[in-house]
Amino acid sequence: MISLICIICPVGCDLSVENDAVMGNACPRGAVYALEEARAPKRVVTATCALAEEPPEKSRNLPAVRRVPVKTLSPCPKEQIADLLSDLYRLRVALPVKIGDPVITDWRGTGITVAVSRTLP
Ligand code: SF4
Repeated sequence: MISLICIICPVGCDLSVENDAVMGNACPRGAVYALEEARAPKRVVTATCALAEEPPEKSRNLPAVRRVPVKTLSPCPKEQIADLLSDLYRLRVALPVKIGDPVITDWRGTGITVAVSRTLP
């Protein structure tokens, strides 16, 4: 049996899953969440990527921007997060970038896209 707190809404029901039966959920969304957590947990991944080169001259007076924030557009299986982060930390991103620009598409055939989460000139 696994126990977890539902994070789908602010109520935060105490859930438990045993033999594919969910207990403690006040609505069906909690059951879907609990079964996914029990069978194949996934997480949206956020990270930062290094710049391909030094920031342009005009950026030097702004707060230091040395990395580009990125996030996955869909959840990544938990067991693959370390590999995804490893790939992201090796990546070099060239400025300028706009929020939503993809830096990785269909990562390792999973269909996961990683996109920029902040516009940087
Ligand atoms: S089970 Fe339903 S009511 Fe309870 S926290 Fe999850 S979404 Fe909210």
